Amino acid sequence: MRPTAAITLAVSLLFSSAGCSTHPITTTDRDFSDTALHEEFAEASVRLYVRRHARLLAVSYAIRTAGTDLCGDAVGPILGIAAWRSNPLFGRPFFEALERIYGVWAGSIAVVAVQPGSPADRAGIRVGDQILHVAGDTVHSDIDLFDRAAAFEAGAIPITLMRDEQEIRVSVEPLSACLPEAFIEIGDLMLTDRARGDHFYVTSGFIRFAKTDDELALVVAHELAHRISGMRVVPGPQVEVRADRLGLYLAARAGYDISVAPAFWDRVALEQPWSLSDDVEHYGWTRVPPHGYMPSRAAAIRKIVAEIQRKIENGEALAPGKD
Ligand SMILES: [Zn+2]
Repeated sequence: MRPTAAITLAVSLLFSSAGCSTHPITTTDRDFSDTALHEEFAEASVRLYVRRHARLLAVSYAIRTAGTDLCGDAVGPILGIAAWRSNPLFGRPFFEALERIYGVWAGSIAVVAVQPGSPADRAGIRVGDQILHVAGDTVHSDIDLFDRAAAFEAGAIPITLMRDEQEIRVSVEPLSACLPEAFIEIGDLMLTDRARGDHFYVTSGFIRFAKTDDELALVVAHELAHRISGMRVVPGPQVEVRADRLGLYLAARAGYDISVAPAFWDRVALEQPWSLSDDVEHYGWTRVPPHGYMPSRAAAIRKIVAEIQRKIENGEALAPGKD
């Protein structure tokens, strides 16, 4: 093999392994007292979570921008970035690694992913930029950043960044999308529903569990539908089916294959045995809104999927209409 070919192969192997979920480093035969090893591990963890967040960003961006007319009043400017605040939520080694990789400082807000073609991308915002001000106001957290951008109604959004120790001003042309922003949260297979503003969180467990973006789109669109409609008051099959209805239309609008929905939620049901009943009293101690089988929900999902597929075949507009 010629040297250039060997190099090309090595590079392509490097890139092909970058997208897979296997851990890129190992402690086998390594010295555990070696601080370089600790740092390497923490940096690999940052990259792993950035990849997951970038995937969530891509899917949520597609859904939020495709279904604007289905989202009623829950519409506002979208940026198209994932940003993290340097804080100790994921542990000190993680955020020290974040600081090393992205040059962030304590409390600053770093852009970790930019959706190609998004308003942020077109305005020249890049991975590694630190967001200082949005519309003239200092931003104090990632949530603050997205809230200010989403509430801006006066044309292009002025944003001040720090890049290579220099302040840069960019102007983000607004694009309307469904609100709110989707955030990643470390956690298992539960769609968390804690009261934290109007935002919604998709757990890292669900992002892992969704084998394809078509599956992840079901989760994102379902949770977005809950948020749009404020349908979280009473947990149970009816609330879930209403979120499924709007969510499946939102996912289909964005071009995702919703035919995977019944099998996907069946897989979720196996993981959430408390949800194998239509009766809220049967949920057990968890009392979390179920996203598993629920006989009535499973039947409804199949019906809604068939309805949407029929509309697609007939070239009809994809609007959910009345429940
Ligand atoms: Zn739900």
